[in-house]
Amino acid sequence: MSESEVSAIVEGVRHFVRREIVPNVQRLEEQDDFPQHVVDAMAELGLFGMVVPQAYGGLDLPLEDYVAIMEELGAGWSAMPSFLNSHCTVARLISLYGTDEQKQRYLPELADGSRRGAIVLTEPSTGSDLKQIRTQAVPQEDGGFVLNGQKIFITNGQRARLHMVLARQPAPDGKGPISLFIVESETPGFEVSRLIHKMGFKHVDTAELRFDGVKLDRLALLGGLAGQGLPQVLSILETGRLAMAGTAVGMARNALAVALQYSKDRETFGQPICNHQAVQIHLANMATQLVAARAMIREALRHKAQYGRADMLSSMAKLFATEATMTITQEAMRVLGGYGYVAEFPIERLYREAPIYVLTEGTNEIQRIIIAREMIKADGPDRLGLM
Ligand SMILES: Cc1cc2nc3c(=O)[nH]c(=O)nc-3n(C[C@H](O)[C@H](O)[C@H](O)COP(=O)(O)OP(=O)(O)OC[C@H]3O[C@@H](n4cnc5c(N)ncnc54)[C@H](O)[C@@H]3O)c2cc1C
Repeated sequence: MSESEVSAIVEGVRHFVRREIVPNVQRLEEQDDFPQHVVDAMAELGLFGMVVPQAYGGLDLPLEDYVAIMEELGAGWSAMPSFLNSHCTVARLISLYGTDEQKQRYLPELADGSRRGAIVLTEPSTGSDLKQIRTQAVPQEDGGFVLNGQKIFITNGQRARLHMVLARQPAPDGKGPISLFIVESETPGFEVSRLIHKMGFKHVDTAELRFDGVKLDRLALLGGLAGQGLPQVLSILETGRLAMAGTAVGMARNALAVALQYSKDRETFGQPICNHQAVQIHLANMATQLVAARAMIREALRHKAQYGRADMLSSMAKLFATEATMTITQEAMRVLGGYGYVAEFPIERLYREAPIYVLTEGTNEIQRIIIAREMIKADGPDRLGLM
């Protein structure tokens, strides 16, 4: 795909968001029904196939465009990137590690959005420390597995129809090999046991899942190789973090745009509040943080293009962008005064939703640990992008 075609796709998404979504966000948020027409429109644009190879019906976009699209969606309506993020993680895992049979069976349906994906790692007793998962996959004589266990906090867990589940084989010491298993939601024994209420993202379901004697055939083991689950997950977290950083920047952009416009419209003491220096300081802080966050994402992308990986810079970009977005939504609330706190303006919602990015795709404490570890083990500051 040529560069101009790729930019055209990002541009197309921006126009779609501005024309179809932005004027309707408040109405979409207020309605209780799931916004299926928005998901259908996203599918129409090919967004569910963003990371799927073209041979399987996807767009196979370069990482820069994927991240830029997540920013555009995040700037329009924060629910939209959440419909896509874990789906794209599943699609990327199958594209990278799936056998030919797995790719042929699943990628076309993932690409056109007819089967949405969920990434199923976290358990009630463990989130950051995935080595401690307890969900068991017991090997069967026919090469298949039987899955038993419980997972929690699964984004799109209810609506997705393809679940990429991290589970371990039994072993006397409880430390059997950990692998990823592809589970179709129609499989008997798979159950959405509970929907979890949360601060924001009303239309994005977060589910608790149970696997009770779920029989999987041999095709379910990702790549057909046992014991590769954690390296496979870790290898794609870097791109997931950049996508999340892009999404957070999009949300911050929305908050800044609302605050800036409001500051021009609202008058106190005989003039627009944007003329008051105290308000200008908020606006300047917000804009500076936003541009810095975006620059960090670009730097991580540049480094990844040059060296193949950018673990430290991706973690830095995720850490900085998501923390900045928390701060920016709060500053926007201050600019709007009382109107920042009420649901007629979007800031109240953005303020409630921003913290999720600090907590997922590796908490920001974990990002700091990755940054420090990468620095300690690195073979030189230039290799890290520090010079
Ligand atoms: C809305 C929502 C959607 C989610 N979507 C998904 C999903 O789609 N799929 C999925 O699998 N999971 C999902 N999660 C789970 C999310 O990824 C985890 O909540 C996250 O990984 C943290 O795990 P935990 O909640 O168990 O916290 P814990 O791991 O128990 O951590 C608790 C605290 O301790 C800190 N901490 C832990 N270990 C260390 C350490 N070594 N050093 C320093 N600090 C540490 C953490 O940073 C945190 O502050 C979602 C969560 C939410 C809330």
